[in-house]
Amino acid sequence: MDEFLIVSDGRCEGQTSYVGGRPQLPDRFPIPSCGLCGKQQAFFFQLRIPDGLPRHGETMVVFQCVSCAREEGLIPEMLGGPLKGAVVPRGFITGYQRNFRVLFFANDEIVTCEEYRELVAFKELKFSARKSRGLFGRLGTAEWLMEDETPKRLDTGEPLEFLMQVKADFHFSIVDGAPHAVKMGIFGTEEISDENYYRLFISNELYIFVNAVGEPFPYLLTQFE
Ligand SMILES: [Zn+2]
Repeated sequence: MDEFLIVSDGRCEGQTSYVGGRPQLPDRFPIPSCGLCGKQQAFFFQLRIPDGLPRHGETMVVFQCVSCAREEGLIPEMLGGPLKGAVVPRGFITGYQRNFRVLFFANDEIVTCEEYRELVAFKELKFSARKSRGLFGRLGTAEWLMEDETPKRLDTGEPLEFLMQVKADFHFSIVDGAPHAVKMGIFGTEEISDENYYRLFISNELYIFVNAVGEPFPYLLTQFE
């Protein structure tokens, strides 16, 4: 499997794995709102999951709010206790997607949301056997910045498998006219960022695990060097 995800310029019909632009969701599915501030979340990226990975045959679509910056939402909530080998309660996962949303849909179910206002600039995601400029993330095997925090399974028994990670400090450039993100200022108050890009989980390295079959329960971890 080509394990590296590289961003590349160029837009054409039929691209299915990309950063920015407009998301592809089933018609019936609205753009998610933020559970902390109520605003519509921003679309960050989507991945058509290749062979050999959990939930192959589906597309993962990732949103995060850029309109608020609250202490409890800067990174995904962490389980108490040791993370390596953790048994993750389903209830924990359903509860913690407040200012972000990670969705999975069958590939044949999705259509481009034409009415979505583009915020993040479009870049295609290409699969590559080698690391190169424009590295976005990797598939297959987690490369931990700190200690291995691989979970074991959901509390209902299904194993949690590594799907992908997004590189720390990847900048999601925004299009002209897109509102700048709200960030947490040094005094803990919300302020408008002067950056012309968005950060996913304040630019931590992001690890996504998920159960392979049945209703998806994505489990997210972040690390920072
Ligand atoms: Zn929000």
